[in-house]
Amino acid sequence: MAGIDVGGTKTLCLLRSKGREEVKRFTTPKKWEKLVDALQLWVEETEPEFLGIALPSPIRGRGIAEQAPNLGWDKKDVWKVFGGWATRVKILNDVTAAAIAEKYAGDAKKMSDFLCIYIGTGIGGGGYANGRLITGAFGRGMEVGHQQVDPDGMPCTCGARGCWETLAGTAGFLRIAEGIGLGGFSPPKLFELARKGNPKAQKLLNIYTDFVAIGVANLVAILDPSAIFFGGGLMKSWRLFSAPLSDRIRRRVKIFSTRKLQILHSRLGDKAVALGALIAAQHEDVL
Ligand SMILES: [Zn+2]
Repeated sequence: MAGIDVGGTKTLCLLRSKGREEVKRFTTPKKWEKLVDALQLWVEETEPEFLGIALPSPIRGRGIAEQAPNLGWDKKDVWKVFGGWATRVKILNDVTAAAIAEKYAGDAKKMSDFLCIYIGTGIGGGGYANGRLITGAFGRGMEVGHQQVDPDGMPCTCGARGCWETLAGTAGFLRIAEGIGLGGFSPPKLFELARKGNPKAQKLLNIYTDFVAIGVANLVAILDPSAIFFGGGLMKSWRLFSAPLSDRIRRRVKIFSTRKLQILHSRLGDKAVALGALIAAQHEDVL
């Protein structure tokens, strides 16, 4: 069985066979045809019986990708392409896959209400409420990055304005950096500066952490989860975020006590999404 995580920049293929695990990582090709070729080659080599494919897009039905701006797509019927590649194929949203991985193989096994929030180019979400995967009526729910937090904000890749990911995704993070005189640095470099005590980089983290907290606080007020699992490229430097982010989120939620809310970093690492896709394909009743 296999799970594939097609990300905006990186793709990760995970194969589990006879107790062995194999991982292949490559840069996501910009062209759709090249991406399909690369995936097909891997699937033909590995011949999985069950195959899960996770995409950074709302997924309707068994495989209509509604919009994947971070892959440069408009609507695409991906089932048409991938549907026949294995005995059972599941196509799902990437952070929904991460939530499945957390529930079946991670730290959320005993939780009935939790959220996964992955921050990179965009912000993806997934989670469980009342013990059930949150999918929405049409399978497109939990597009947390597109909650609107700024009425006159920046245009978003989705077509709306002021979405949370325009402030708290990678572009938002770099925009704050530029505004305080740290333009031209990459996120890892900026995190390194913050770790070394650079006051501007610390100011950047301070402002940015609050932008992240706004969107999370909204979700906490709506869904009252017992835990939030963060992941994604920008959260790799979790040690810098852990305490201040937890503090900001709690300060922003006033309506009820968040004493029992756990703010965590996923321990599944960069395999979480591919693992969740694999689990979704393996077990018919997961999704
Ligand atoms: Zn948007």
